[in-house]
Amino acid sequence: MRKQRTLKKKIKASGIGLHSGKKVEITLEPAAENSGITFYREDKDSEIKLSYDNVVDTRLATTIGDGNVSIKTVEHLLSTLFGLKVDNIYIRLSSEEVPIMDGSGAPWVYLIKTAGIVEQNAYKHSIIIKKPVKIKENGKFVALIPAKNFEIGYSINFDNKVIQKQKMNIEVDEFSFVKEISKARTFGFLKDIEYLQNNNLALGGSLDNAIVVDEYGIINEDPLRYEDEFVRHKILDAIGDLSVLGLDIKGKYIAYKSGHDLNNKLLRKLMSDKSAYEIVKNPLKELKVGSLIWSPVATK
Ligand SMILES: [Zn+2]
Repeated sequence: MRKQRTLKKKIKASGIGLHSGKKVEITLEPAAENSGITFYREDKDSEIKLSYDNVVDTRLATTIGDGNVSIKTVEHLLSTLFGLKVDNIYIRLSSEEVPIMDGSGAPWVYLIKTAGIVEQNAYKHSIIIKKPVKIKENGKFVALIPAKNFEIGYSINFDNKVIQKQKMNIEVDEFSFVKEISKARTFGFLKDIEYLQNNNLALGGSLDNAIVVDEYGIINEDPLRYEDEFVRHKILDAIGDLSVLGLDIKGKYIAYKSGHDLNNKLLRKLMSDKSAYEIVKNPLKELKVGSLIWSPVATK
């Protein structure tokens, strides 16, 4: 178990919303221990506290909301906060959407590292997955199963020559997140973009913030950042989706063709079954629970 962390100082950035196409300013500010992640919309004078049951829309991007106010496309920033273990933060936005930046987590890594990270006194609470929780739906599959650390096993299978089948297993920590996951960009299919933009979505989408794929190849001139950038981006998204629990995760997340919607359903199913998890707030207890779960595996 580790101590909670926040930013050393506040930092500002601006960019455009992927879906709204609007310019948005964002300020990341340090926050008190145990306060978690709070968004504040300056244009509505309204706060939204991050929680798994504040996820209100999962079509294309993750939207969180509280009553009439919502914030779109939170997943890449949330993923990076989780990856860098920034637990308490106050996020001010001038409008309805977190800026897309370059479509990956890398600009957020840069900003957060520039601001600096400090340790606080309180311990970070963990959730220990005690038994498998699974959802199978329309040929897609997602699960959380017991594991000592936070691991991800992700497979995608697209009927597309460029993407095809990609599979990755990774134990997620600060180092592996930055090196292996954070730089992977959002991707989309050329054939979908016209439809999206006709429906007032992806208005801010461009080759500067997404990999665009057609049936022959990648439209972007710049090369892929990883050979299997697509599955890595799905992992980036999944980390953001799981981070809404506000807890360190001791368990393995497994997905086949999952998405924001299925990820949130999985969290709701997990939290509705108290026998499937334990939330640990005391560092000594975590050691005990962890060793109990893992003794049979360790002696194999
Ligand atoms: Zn994404």
